[in-house]
Amino acid sequence: MIGKNLTLSNISKRYGAVEAVRDTSLEIHAGEFVSIVGPSGSGKTSLLTMIAGFEHPSSGSIHIATKNITAAAPHRRDIGMVFQRYALFPHMTVRQNIEFPLRMRKSSRSAEGRQRVTEMLDLVQLGGLEHRYPHQLSGGQQQRVAVARALVFNPPVILMDEPLGALDKKLRESMQLEIKRIHETVGATVVYVTHDQEEALTMSNRVAVMHRGSLQQIGAPDELYRHPANAFVADFVGSINFLPVSVVASDETSVIVVVKGSSSPITISGSRSGDRPSIGQALRLGVRPEHLRLRRSKWDRESPLEGTVDSVVFAGASLFALVRIAAHADAIVRVQLPAIEPAPERGALVGLDFAPEHARLFSAASEGAR
Ligand code: ADP
Ligand code: MG
Repeated sequence: MIGKNLTLSNISKRYGAVEAVRDTSLEIHAGEFVSIVGPSGSGKTSLLTMIAGFEHPSSGSIHIATKNITAAAPHRRDIGMVFQRYALFPHMTVRQNIEFPLRMRKSSRSAEGRQRVTEMLDLVQLGGLEHRYPHQLSGGQQQRVAVARALVFNPPVILMDEPLGALDKKLRESMQLEIKRIHETVGATVVYVTHDQEEALTMSNRVAVMHRGSLQQIGAPDELYRHPANAFVADFVGSINFLPVSVVASDETSVIVVVKGSSSPITISGSRSGDRPSIGQALRLGVRPEHLRLRRSKWDRESPLEGTVDSVVFAGASLFALVRIAAHADAIVRVQLPAIEPAPERGALVGLDFAPEHARLFSAASEGAR
C-alpha cells in the first residue's frame, strides 16, 4: 500500500466576493477512494486545486500524512493529477507523455525509468500503442494515457477532476471499472471529483457531498443513501419525492403529519434528528420512488395518500408512474414499479403508501434535515 492520509482542516477559499469553499474539513484515509460530488459551482474543483497546490486556501491547512503541505509548490507535493480534458502533450508520443513526470524528476533516462513506463503501459493496457500520438488515439485511450502519466512516479495521492466527463456513457462505464481496477492494484489514495452521483456511488469507498462551497455529508454510499443528513443530500444522492406536510402530533418516537390539503394522518417513525417538531409546524415529507407502493384496487385504497396517474415512464428494468396527489394538486410523486407489472393506466385513481421507516421529515425551508 503506497497511499497516505490526506487531511483538510477548516479550508476556506475566497475569490474576491465569491466564497468558493467554506470551512471544509475532510479526513481521507490511506489507500481510500473518496469521491467529491455536488452540482456545478459547488466548489469541487476549487477544493482539488488547493490539494494539488495550484491555488492556496484563504484559511485552513492541508496535510499529507503528517507533513503540512498547505504552502508547498505543486511539484513538491507528490500528487498525481488527472484533468477532465486529458491535457496530453500533442507533440509527444504515448511513451513520451507518460515519461514526462519522470523527466521532470530527472529519473527517465535510467533503465529503471524506461521499465517503469513500460509497466504503466501494461497497467492501463496500452502496450503496443506507445509510439502513437494523442490524435491517433480514441478518447478512452487518451484518458488511460493521462491516468498512466499521473501514476508513473508512484504518488501516494492521486486527484482526478471529472476525468471521464468528456466520454460517452458506455466508454465512461468501462473506464470507471478500469480506474477502480488500477486503484486496487496500486493502492494510492484517490480523490475523485464528479458531478455524477451514480459514478461516485459505484466507484467510491466514501462519498463527500458539496453544496454551495460547504461539505454537507461524507459517508459510505449506502449510508448516504439510507441516512442522508439533510434534504439536499437526500435529493442529490438517488432521487426522492418531497411533499408539504404539517405536524398534528408528536412524541418521543414518532410524528404524525398530514399532507397539506388532506386529512389522512401519516405516522412517521424512526430516524429523526433535531428538535421535536411542534403541532402545526410545516415540514417536508421525503420518500424515495422505490419505497412507494401503488394500491390499484378500490378496496385496497385505504392509503393515506390518493392520487391520479399522470403518466407512466418506461426506464428499462423499471417503470415510473407519475402520480398527482389529490390533496395537493401541485405535488407529483414518482413511484417506481417493477417492469414486469402491468403499467397502471393514465388517469387511474390510485392509493399510495409506504412503510413508516422509509419516510423522513425535513424542514420546509432550508437544506437542513429535521
Ligand atoms: P465546481 O468544480 O464544483 O463546479 P468550482 O470550484 O469550479 O466548482 O467553483 C466554485 C465557485 O467559485 C463558483 O461560483 C465559481 O464561479 C467560483 N470560482 C472558481 N474559480 C474561480 C476563480 N479563479 N475566480 C473567481 N471565481 C472562481
Ligand atoms: Mg469543477
